[in-house]
Amino acid sequence: MKILFAGAGALGSRFGYMLFKNGEDVTFVDSWKEHVENITKDGLKVIIDDKDLGNYYIPTNYPEEATGTFDVVFVATKSMQLRNMLNDVKHLIHENTKIICILNGLGHVDTLKEFVKEENILIGVTVWTSGLGGAGVLKAYGTGKTEIKQVKEENLEETLALIDRLNKAGLNLKYSDDTYQSIWHKAGLNCVLNTYCTLIDCNINQYGTYEKHLELTRAVLNEVTKVGHAEGIDVKQEIIEKNIENCFDPKTAGLHYPSLYQDMKNGRLTEIDYLNGAISKLGKKHNIPTPVCDIITLMIHSKECVNKNK
Ligand code: NAD
Repeated sequence: MKILFAGAGALGSRFGYMLFKNGEDVTFVDSWKEHVENITKDGLKVIIDDKDLGNYYIPTNYPEEATGTFDVVFVATKSMQLRNMLNDVKHLIHENTKIICILNGLGHVDTLKEFVKEENILIGVTVWTSGLGGAGVLKAYGTGKTEIKQVKEENLEETLALIDRLNKAGLNLKYSDDTYQSIWHKAGLNCVLNTYCTLIDCNINQYGTYEKHLELTRAVLNEVTKVGHAEGIDVKQEIIEKNIENCFDPKTAGLHYPSLYQDMKNGRLTEIDYLNGAISKLGKKHNIPTPVCDIITLMIHSKECVNKNK
């Protein structure tokens, strides 16, 4: 079984490393020159929980230079890079290639459907985290789990066997009918914490210290919940609110600056169009006003624009 990681950034290189170490036939493609060169020359340096676990010579290439076809493709780009990546790797996909997509945010199934059959799309949501310590260096902490579901449930036995095999490498995937609800619950949390921390310029704990934080949270979540229900998703706002509260503790995620904050600080584009921007877009589809998400999306784009012109 040949496995491709379309994107060998933080998350892709972590899962790719786990599978490679467990003897799977893994290939990375990425467009980041220094990263590709370092992995090819010295191997991917793996540091987990501050322990140096050595260097792993995972075959790594640029998408346009990769050849052959793959049985499984993990897409592991940022949300706004997904369509371009799929275009760049479509020559590596055969008729039965399974695509696994666990990107944050909403709306990815529509993009994936432009490239592969629905029965070959596995959509999911993960609580694994990962990072990079520079080009060619994976630096990650802890463990995690991932919920996953096949978009059209045909030939499910094949998928369940695939999940069993991937789990032998410790990926901790769970096939779950609640996957869409979990995707929306995580997106709801990100619509609040990623955006407000970026706009207020604070970490998650600091966001929680403001006495009226719940008013801010609910302004966003009321829209997320209404739009989710219109999409047929059983969004439970009280669960998202609880999940957000649980992040405030400095011993859990409180001292963390969300990924959108970090993207903004580093002058990169953000995933806002797949968070609050997606809520605005779906709100229009269902005639549900989403003024808070509309304004937040504009403010984040405005901040990206200011960054670009600095
Ligand atoms: P990342 O930016 O570290 O990795 C993306 C990689 O894709 C980069 O190395 C980039 O060079 C490459 N890439 C993008 N477009 C490309 C193209 N067309 N051709 C070749 N290479 C291309 O991002 P990440 O942190 O791994 O996040 C990936 C997704 O997973 C995001 O949706 C993120 O929100 C989600 N996520 C991340 C974490 C985490 O802890 N990092 C946790 C949960 C979910």
